[in-house]
Amino acid sequence: MKNLNPFNLKNFIKTNYFLPYSKQNITGRDIKSVVKALKNDLITQGEILPRFENEISKKVLSDYSIAVNSATSALHIACLALGLKENDYLWTTPITFVASANCGKYCGAKVDFVDIEPNTGLISIKALEEKLKKAKNENKLPKIIVPVHLCGSSCDMQKIFELSNIYGFSIIEDASHAIGGRYQDFPVGCCKYSDITVFSFHPVKIITSAEGGVAVTNNHNLAEKMRDLRSHCIIRDPKRFKEKSLGLWKYEIQELGYNYRMNELQAALGLSQLKRLEKIINRRNYLYDQYKILLDTLPLKLLDIPKNVYSSLHLAVITLNDETRRENVFSLFRKNNIGVQLHYYPVHLQPIYKKLGFKEGDFPSSEEYSKKAISIPLYPQLKKRDLIRVANLLKKFLD
Ligand SMILES: *Cc1c(COP(=O)(O)O)cnc(C)c1O
Repeated sequence: MKNLNPFNLKNFIKTNYFLPYSKQNITGRDIKSVVKALKNDLITQGEILPRFENEISKKVLSDYSIAVNSATSALHIACLALGLKENDYLWTTPITFVASANCGKYCGAKVDFVDIEPNTGLISIKALEEKLKKAKNENKLPKIIVPVHLCGSSCDMQKIFELSNIYGFSIIEDASHAIGGRYQDFPVGCCKYSDITVFSFHPVKIITSAEGGVAVTNNHNLAEKMRDLRSHCIIRDPKRFKEKSLGLWKYEIQELGYNYRMNELQAALGLSQLKRLEKIINRRNYLYDQYKILLDTLPLKLLDIPKNVYSSLHLAVITLNDETRRENVFSLFRKNNIGVQLHYYPVHLQPIYKKLGFKEGDFPSSEEYSKKAISIPLYPQLKKRDLIRVANLLKKFLD
């Protein structure tokens, strides 16, 4: 795919099939794995799930993995395990999927936001430092901060970790976009600078289990707590019983838990997909580099990827100069059967958060970003002609 000239008509094969911004990549081997799992005696709580969890831990270099039915559930049990309660604060960034904030609300906690760095879409360390200083004076320091690795690029975790040592908050990395990514040459998920990291296996994400997610950690107690919470807090180990064990039938429920389990079919699909992780990430990076070449001369910007980061490139986000332009490009793409998206409309401006007092102007960089950003298609199955189709459409409009 070298020396592509997007504007050479010979390269422009006229096609009009639908291109989503992202979609699942399913192979024959994936399908075989799921069918095989379906024939096992146990189709939930069997032996595939622990194998999947083991392989995740091996890949991301975490000591423990707790797979669940979504990243949203993983965020919830992560907050609970870290003891988030009413009157506590959880902070995240406005440019994220709403689940990064909602997990705080599930625990009855208060949610607040930190503005982003506009060139990367990631949490601004400067804004975070200032907000922490102010919060300390007002006695409103957060219990948990959820940095979001937008598009698959890790936030500056070392800096956030250093601040956590000063101000005493816990860290959950929302790495829903970022499995297979790296920061300072360590895989995202190694939890070197965090308590817990969460990944999503929704079909639009890097790898999928149809629905699913996982929380990884190096902390034994957090792992045990999350494993309990995933399955009703059913305790079967007599050593952990509060009351005397009377028979083999006995299990104890000591606290409120949930059914957030991932079943064996999902685990089989996830396990099969995980084997291709490097291949998928390489392909996404390759396609992104091709976009860079194709879009080079146009008046738009691709998001910056920080220097010490290898992005998993879940999303290719371009930013245009102004809002009107963005709206027009958006409708042009939709008219041409290309499913562009905005990632994301600021969470603090969603009605559910506005109701709590957040308003326009609270987080200017996030608001500015969301007026100019568009996610263009990026997933492994994309062909050269698809990238050219996207580039030509942009060229046509922006010239
Ligand atoms: C997709 C996503 C989630 C939620 O993932 P589910 O598995 O769909 O629950 C959370 N945070 C971010 C940033 C996401 O993109």
